Amino acid sequence: MSLTENSALLRVRDLKKYYPVRTRLGRRGRETVKALDGVSLDIRRGETFGLVGESGCGKTTLGYCLLRLIEPSSGEIYFEGRKVLELDSRSMRQLRRQIQIVFQDPYSSLNPRMTVKDILEEPFIIHGFVSRRQQVEEVKGLLKVVGLDLSSLDKYPHQFSGGQRQRIAVARALALKPQLIVADEPVSALDVSVQAQIVSLFEELQAQYNLTYLFISHGIPVVEYISHTIGVMYLGKLVEVGSRSEIGENPLHPYTQILLASVPVLNGAVAKEITHLEGEVPSPINPPPGCRFHTRCPFVMERCKSEAPREIHVTPTHWVSCHLIDERG
Ligand code: SF4
Repeated sequence: MSLTENSALLRVRDLKKYYPVRTRLGRRGRETVKALDGVSLDIRRGETFGLVGESGCGKTTLGYCLLRLIEPSSGEIYFEGRKVLELDSRSMRQLRRQIQIVFQDPYSSLNPRMTVKDILEEPFIIHGFVSRRQQVEEVKGLLKVVGLDLSSLDKYPHQFSGGQRQRIAVARALALKPQLIVADEPVSALDVSVQAQIVSLFEELQAQYNLTYLFISHGIPVVEYISHTIGVMYLGKLVEVGSRSEIGENPLHPYTQILLASVPVLNGAVAKEITHLEGEVPSPINPPPGCRFHTRCPFVMERCKSEAPREIHVTPTHWVSCHLIDERG
């Protein structure tokens, strides 16, 4: 076991989620959507793992699998060394105190018929481990932590702005004092001016409570800002993982380079500059053979069309799957 594995709060190994889909003839099970196809990653305690990629690449599926809101097809998830996929429903319920989720859309994730007080009390009622008096104090404390005042308690979600609603959603996620929060595109639905405030809130809470985040986003700037480690995902697979500085200063996969826009190729050996993606993400039903990115890659070679690239570890914390790097040696 590596040092990284030892210090990881969460480890994911070879996680797959396949969905059978109906063919055009209506017969079920003849084709398969490979939403996740062999994802492995470590998230260290107190750190943020930023997961970035275009819509439909499997990021949210991964987040949902960690909480078993979606049941993976195969693979392993370890939380503090425990095998999450082997837990029975009672143990899983206990684990969900430790792993919480903040959804993308604060407009639909909060029940419009519940007051803020009801929303924030709900986790305590479901898990029933504090007294009624304590519950009231906890709810007041949560509001303070996320920067809302006590007058919010009797209001309904529609009476708040998008940023305030996301603060309420974050407060709800914090109620049970989790160790890990899956933040699924938590700022994408917000105005740009509000996004920075919510990102700052995540940072402050991490510093205060030593929280660990899986921070999912389709936009690399926010992930680059908040993450300690960045994973770049394409069509159900991670294609590059590295520390923030490794990905930001030395992106190696062409897809990462395009996401970062106009980064010199191969660490200064500029072949050509690439600034945008051509075409759409291919269907995850029968994804392209070889390198899945080959249908859009500006540097595609013959071998890319049939041979899947292996993981190449360029540092202990930075790896990439690309034949270009393999050939560079
Ligand atoms: Fe492009 Fe080939 Fe590298 Fe895939 S393996 S990213 S197609 S160069």
